Amino acid sequence: MPELPDLVYYRERLEPALKDRAIRSVQVRDPVVLRNATGMSTDEFLIGGCFRSVQIRGPFLIFEMDRGLMVVNCMLAGHFSLDAKFRKSRLLEFELDAGWLAYHDSKKMGKIYLALREQTQLIPRFEDQGVDIIGPGFSKEVFLELIAKSRRQVRAFLMDQTLLSSIGNAYADEILFEARLHPKTFCHKLNAHEQERLFRAIQTTMQNAIESVRAADPGLEHKYRQHVRVRNRLKAPCPRCAAPIRRVAVLGHDAFFCPACQPADRKLFIDWSQT
Ligand SMILES: [Zn+2]
Repeated sequence: MPELPDLVYYRERLEPALKDRAIRSVQVRDPVVLRNATGMSTDEFLIGGCFRSVQIRGPFLIFEMDRGLMVVNCMLAGHFSLDAKFRKSRLLEFELDAGWLAYHDSKKMGKIYLALREQTQLIPRFEDQGVDIIGPGFSKEVFLELIAKSRRQVRAFLMDQTLLSSIGNAYADEILFEARLHPKTFCHKLNAHEQERLFRAIQTTMQNAIESVRAADPGLEHKYRQHVRVRNRLKAPCPRCAAPIRRVAVLGHDAFFCPACQPADRKLFIDWSQT
């Protein structure tokens, strides 16, 4: 699933390639991903218009077009390609006056919304996004105010997009590892020092991930996760202390963590530190 660092990489690759490029033709290979709220046909809305910019809002990529917006939520497996020869799971394709853009999605769970600028409230969860965690509005004060109101487990708090926009499964694990906090810790049990550590961990983890993906430059067709330290690394040695990485279910999501660096603050149903 693309997360914020992947979307930053997409934006940095897509915007220079698409800016001021006019759409000559559009081919919808599977309409299941498309939601058109504009009142125009897909061709009327898109063809002849130009791409102007690419922005990020939480899990959404926003393509600013002449007649409105194309908003993409990649969900589990959606991604883009500028290479006309890459055909795997291609669902939507644009022929441009110079170049090519396609959306690919092997799971067909992503959504592409065509909307006028005043119609964004029709896009599910678009208007409900919380503070942009890689934007200038994400200050320590804002974070402390949000976490002070939460009595949830810290991993669920991190993944609530209406508060922090946005953190998915992979970076929730990475942030908690960086902050040395057990994923089931309750927010209201964190002391001031731990809260500040968590805030710094969000910033450090996301910034490092953005730089890692940018440096790896894997191409739009491939997801890059070589830099993660605990996510999906079950039984691998912790990069900090060499203890085997564990997995635990947190409210229906798998969480990966180091039982030594991220000890539980209370007796849990299974005491991982003893196994
Ligand atoms: Zn460790």
